[in-house]
Amino acid sequence: MLFDPTPKVDRKDFFDREKEIEKLKRLETPIVLVLGLRRTGKSSLIKIVLNELKDYLSIYVDLRKYEEKNTITYRDFLLDLQNEINRLGKKYNKLIDALKNIKGVKILGNEVKFSWSKEERFSFSSLLDSLEQTGKSVIVLDEAQELVKMRGVNLLPSLAYAFDNLKNVKIIISGSEMGMVYDFLKVEDSSSPLYGRAFSTIELKPFDKETAIKFLKKGFEELNISFNKEEEVYETIGGIPGWLTYFGFTYYQTRNYEESVRKTLEYAKKLIYREFENFLKPRYIAKERYYTAMRTISNCASWSEIKRSLEAKEGIEISDSEIYNYLIQLLKHSWIVKEDDKYCPSEPLIGKTFK
Ligand code: ADP
Ligand code: MG
Repeated sequence: MLFDPTPKVDRKDFFDREKEIEKLKRLETPIVLVLGLRRTGKSSLIKIVLNELKDYLSIYVDLRKYEEKNTITYRDFLLDLQNEINRLGKKYNKLIDALKNIKGVKILGNEVKFSWSKEERFSFSSLLDSLEQTGKSVIVLDEAQELVKMRGVNLLPSLAYAFDNLKNVKIIISGSEMGMVYDFLKVEDSSSPLYGRAFSTIELKPFDKETAIKFLKKGFEELNISFNKEEEVYETIGGIPGWLTYFGFTYYQTRNYEESVRKTLEYAKKLIYREFENFLKPRYIAKERYYTAMRTISNCASWSEIKRSLEAKEGIEISDSEIYNYLIQLLKHSWIVKEDDKYCPSEPLIGKTFK
């Protein structure tokens, strides 16, 4: 069902992303990037493709749960890998065999345990090597921008090693905060292990008006519901597939247009607000300034309008470099975009949340 509010796993439930599915399936480079704002369908796209790549072993690390945290430890990351490998069970006997005799691995029956202790530390590279021996495989790092919070270990040398040397292992890196994904990979930093590597990149853009309308029409047709306010829905909530799906699902349950719009807006604002609070956690000193900036930007604003609003709020001068820093952070974390000389919310419901 197109309006199923959970991530899709089957392409028949995934609207208008055939090209993206085909491109991701080709895994054209050792590391492939899947980028797009939150709720544009990245996890769905990846799950659909993994389902179709039947002869690949897949390990899916969902890093979204670290959104609320300020740091990720190597222990957290290893336990994620360990749980994922153990969840795969019997299918993975070959992998378990390859992991035998590797430093930091204990095998108890059919279960693996990875050690993060100083002396016996299991390295991510040895997992990649074991996968290489096992056969074709994919590791997914979903919402990889969270990995900039990882302390005590650097994954980039292992990723570069896989990029340059491994034939069987592919890595899919997805992210909602596109600037942060590039910050994590450090592709433009000449001293970084991944410097200059080319990645096949798939960007999921929000639906444009025409596509959003078609999506709603098809979703309601599938449920045998007559509906004719597709255009109004787009004008009110925009083209993010996740919000449109939520609207469709709510209308399916309530059959009431006003109530469905209200519920969608309420739900979206609550989530966006929570995500913004997570963004502010490591920046709590400047919290009020970020809120003021977002309020000003909610209708699009120029640099000088933003500066004026921040200074008016506090009645003191705020330096250009501070303002520059706030805007860079908001841009990198995809809260805003720059359009000509204006800063705007990256999607309409972000604007509505801060009005
Ligand atoms: P992301 O991982 O980018 O945050 P998800 O894959 O979790 O996005 O998708 C968010 C919601 O939107 C899910 O309910 C998903 O089913 C729905 N969705 C996203 N894109 C589509 C699409 N093209 N067709 C149908 N539903 C979609
Ligand atoms: Mg996702």
